Amino acid sequence: MPLFGTNGIRGVLNETISPELGYRFGMAVGTYYVDKKIAVAYDNRTTSDLFRDVVVAGLLNSGKDVVDLGMIPTPAAQIYCKLNNIPGVMITASHNPPNFNGFKVISKDGSNPGKGEEVKIEGLIENGNFNKSRWDTVGASHKEEAVEPYLREILKNVNRDQIRKKRFRLLIDCANSTTVVTTPRLLRLLEANYVSINANTDSYFPGREPEPTEENIKDLISFAKSTEFDLSVAHDGDGDRAVFLDEKGKMIDGDKFVALAADHLLDKYKGDLVFPVASSFLIDWVAQKHGVKLIRTPVGAPVISEVLTRTNGLLGGEENGKVIFPRYLNGGDGGLSLALALDIISSRGAEISDLIKELPDYKLRRIKIANRDDFKEIKAKFKEYYSKMSYDEIDGLRLLEKDSFILIRPSGTEPAIRIYISSMDSEWIDRREREIKGLITS
Ligand code: MG
Repeated sequence: MPLFGTNGIRGVLNETISPELGYRFGMAVGTYYVDKKIAVAYDNRTTSDLFRDVVVAGLLNSGKDVVDLGMIPTPAAQIYCKLNNIPGVMITASHNPPNFNGFKVISKDGSNPGKGEEVKIEGLIENGNFNKSRWDTVGASHKEEAVEPYLREILKNVNRDQIRKKRFRLLIDCANSTTVVTTPRLLRLLEANYVSINANTDSYFPGREPEPTEENIKDLISFAKSTEFDLSVAHDGDGDRAVFLDEKGKMIDGDKFVALAADHLLDKYKGDLVFPVASSFLIDWVAQKHGVKLIRTPVGAPVISEVLTRTNGLLGGEENGKVIFPRYLNGGDGGLSLALALDIISSRGAEISDLIKELPDYKLRRIKIANRDDFKEIKAKFKEYYSKMSYDEIDGLRLLEKDSFILIRPSGTEPAIRIYISSMDSEWIDRREREIKGLITS
């Protein structure tokens, strides 16, 4: 089993990840990079102090100096690395439940390292060929402030005066985690009024689970429905995601928000789009409208980032609402997404729900079939049953009929099959869902 999953190393203390592993990870990262300084940041989980200390010990023993950025969102650490051209380490389990933690590497350009880099670091963790210090070559650690430069970078990408004039009224949900130190400050800089929930850091995440699913953010939804806000936002634990509710408290589909952001940014810049096969044909519509190319990739933010780098693409995104804008940072950032949302509303002078309604109404239904590891058989069955449809195999199997599709793929993190059905026609989606469920259980 490779140590690095799709988003670094994740696990539960003394069950699947140990302090010893954290130390070896620090030694491996310190040995791998030739740079003298390495940044370290962390979230507010119960195990974050412990994992920070062992990772830092490994880095120092490998001879590196550590820049301690404190408890901040992952994208704030990424921006620090990019601005200072140094690699970094983030200690977080992102949106996973409170008992999890993990570590990931940040490249010097602020992006996720490619698979090649991860494999080399993994090799070092296993073989233990570490650089070890003498008493007079061991590294030292000092603290630095990363929030202010991060917020300044976000503000460079929006029309601050226009947003200020709007005097927005917002509701924010920081998941008792890292965005507590950034999102309220960002909104004050934009002179927006806000009401906050789960806006104190708490390692036990008493307010809600760190993943901003509709189920997990029901407190936010009921609050947003009962009071008037221009927009409501919920972050995940480490702040690389934001999901939004419109002014009526209705959740905005991530697939639609990303399309709106792409449309907005393409008004200002020219460049190609990079989206996974799970995104609906709405993104094709945006690409056509602006006369740019759309590159389809397998599902997952790391591969989107890689393709963006390789093709020098303008913008990438995921159907969960993650916007990746490499001119700013080649990775998702909930803070940037929030600032972009306010930029879009203030520049277009309409309610967010109206802006969403103006887009072609491509619907995207996501279904998870748990406890299935027979993807190959299911794929063969689907190919046969839908033999009249054209298909591609960029990730799993995507069956296409005009601007509707069915995507089936094995989950990257658990023994399950993920299904995405998208069309403008709800009946088409209902019919396909019935057929698919029949096919899978037969
Ligand atoms: Mg995250």
